[in-house]
Amino acid sequence: MTGSSMTGSSMSGSVAAQDRAKTGPNPAPGRHPALANLSAGRMVDLTYPFDSETIYWPTEAGFKLIRGPAGMTERGYYYAANRFVAAEHGGTHLDAPIHFFAGRHTVDQIPLDKLVGEAVVIDATAACRENVDYQIGVADLHRWESTHERPLVDVIVLLKSGHGRHWRNRERYLGTNESGSAAVAKLHFPGLSPDAARWLVEHRSIKAIGIDTPSIDYGRSQRFQSHVALCGHNIPIFENVANLDRLPTTGALVVALPMKIGGGSGGPLRIIALTP
Ligand SMILES: [Zn+2]
Repeated sequence: MTGSSMTGSSMSGSVAAQDRAKTGPNPAPGRHPALANLSAGRMVDLTYPFDSETIYWPTEAGFKLIRGPAGMTERGYYYAANRFVAAEHGGTHLDAPIHFFAGRHTVDQIPLDKLVGEAVVIDATAACRENVDYQIGVADLHRWESTHERPLVDVIVLLKSGHGRHWRNRERYLGTNESGSAAVAKLHFPGLSPDAARWLVEHRSIKAIGIDTPSIDYGRSQRFQSHVALCGHNIPIFENVANLDRLPTTGALVVALPMKIGGGSGGPLRIIALTP
């Protein structure tokens, strides 16, 4: 419908409300109503940049940007275009359920409603500072529930170990600066215990889960049982999540959108939060 086809009597309530909004002081003219409460100060980027310093699993090569042309063309306009090469799993990324369970969702199959939702932050910073091999357990999840008097249902659970403070130091962050399959045995960082992962999928109903370490299973893990439990129940996992210390314990809205790789087992993730 165009403006010229409307009369006062045929104008619907919502159109009239929009018109009022356009003439009122707030929101600003032409602004979409859904953006009324947004401002740059309320957006938190939970994503590390992808560059030559980005930390990948020791068995993977890092992120590679292959520089292409950049400069003025003969026709008088500027043009820049590069290529990149990267493993699915590295930096801030998503594990699709098929990563550790046959027949479960690939990246492109994950329903969007699992990737957008209220974030709740489980703070295990103190325990992880004491013990780099700490596994966040059922007791930690219970403690959050009793403090906040609500169950972990219909939320995106973000596990804050505090380990992200080591991100700039690969050796501290992974527990080893070595690469290759032998380095996997030398990993040290906190994670989620397999018992807690099983409790979440059997007794609660969460949308997705994320952590500020390289893996949802702790560094010492050999069988990756937290991955298996979560993936078996089609729960997406976010790893190497940045800036969790900037989120409130409840009430932030998280939007976590991976590159939609057809048939992918995971992929680079842009994850942001809108704080209340
Ligand atoms: Zn992964």
